[in-house]
Amino acid sequence: MRLIHTAEVLSVGSELTTGETRDTNAGDLARALTEAGVVVARMSSLPDDEPALRAAIEAALGRADLVVLTGGLGPTPDDLTREAVAAAAGEEPVVDRALEGWLRRLFERRGVPFPEANLKQAWLIPSARSIPNDRGTAPGWWVDRPDGRVVVALPGPPREMQPMWTGWVLPRLAERGLGRSAVTVTLRTTGIGESLIADRLGGLLARDAEPLVATYARAEAVDVRISAHERPGWDGRAAVEATTAQVEGLLAGHVWARGTTSWAEAVAEALDRRAWRLSIVEVATRGSVTALLGEGLADRIAFAETLPDRPPAHDGHEADPAHLARRVLAAGGGDVGLAVEVRPRGGDMAVSVAVVDPGGEHRERRLVFLGGDMGRGRAAITAAAVLLARIRA
Ligand code: ATP
Ligand code: MG
Repeated sequence: MRLIHTAEVLSVGSELTTGETRDTNAGDLARALTEAGVVVARMSSLPDDEPALRAAIEAALGRADLVVLTGGLGPTPDDLTREAVAAAAGEEPVVDRALEGWLRRLFERRGVPFPEANLKQAWLIPSARSIPNDRGTAPGWWVDRPDGRVVVALPGPPREMQPMWTGWVLPRLAERGLGRSAVTVTLRTTGIGESLIADRLGGLLARDAEPLVATYARAEAVDVRISAHERPGWDGRAAVEATTAQVEGLLAGHVWARGTTSWAEAVAEALDRRAWRLSIVEVATRGSVTALLGEGLADRIAFAETLPDRPPAHDGHEADPAHLARRVLAAGGGDVGLAVEVRPRGGDMAVSVAVVDPGGEHRERRLVFLGGDMGRGRAAITAAAVLLARIRA
């Protein structure tokens, strides 16, 4: 039997192509498929137009082992996914008596008359099985093609689509032989840009390398993803481990976490290891440091304050970040004092960070790209990075 290695996702509905509704289904399905080791080669959005839908389904079936459609299973004349799948399969839809009974009982239970337009939600074609929908009136279709490819059609509303996908479709796809099991490690880096990472990793980033190494610039980190698909006679896991060690060596000092760990989670874990608590004072950041760390650190924060400007000198001390860190630690309590101050510098932002902990005092200055909210957000990440390195030191 044909194994499912590649998939395409088709999102159906003119509300998508007019921008009225955001397509979240395609991304959710792509993530699930990727996790299952299936390569998603293409995702498309299509209007409620039968010939266009049919052509898209046929084209996708010419390329991929699996085609997943969402949307267009409703009862109205503009819901045309069933018609298009039937046409692509070269089959005629007929009313399935069991589905019809289920639908009619659904309306009886609600005490409303059965609109004949809804009858098409009881349609099936000979090569289709119906996928039960516990949350709506639109059952899905699972269609087996003679060449072993599969078409799956699910309703558009995410609250209906999701449970049908995870509860019904995914287990059956897995039985059918889904993808190749993938091994993935994600390293989260800081303080080094994507292009510099590319310089250091060199040939490891080759597009046909195995394991595959790729970088993703995100708001909170540049992620380096090392992944491989298992295949007979080759230990993908061991290969990923070896490449991961190599990447960690080349990016030494910049890797701060793995997977999807957030800054707050990383700092929380580091604080817990030492059984420390933290006091924070931030100047001119509009609270960006507390916004980044506060919720995740919860009661590991002894005290936090945000000042609009640097306070005036007092007791003969300039109220610079080092002084503020000592003062907030003394006044707020805890074991670590963190002070962060930002100042616009050209279009960018100068960040001063001071950390006071039982190991001593540490100061650092950095320049982050862009001002305003973007700069303040990046300043918070810089502060979290400096803090994390000190707690771990
Ligand atoms: P139903 O009969 O339950 O309406 P349906 O298959 O006809 O199912 P659609 O009419 O295509 O579904 O879409 C219904 C609603 O579902 C849309 O108005 C939208 O709110 C949501 N929806 C549809 N497609 C998507 C999508 N790709 N991503 C997110 N939401 C979607
Ligand atoms: Mg609809």
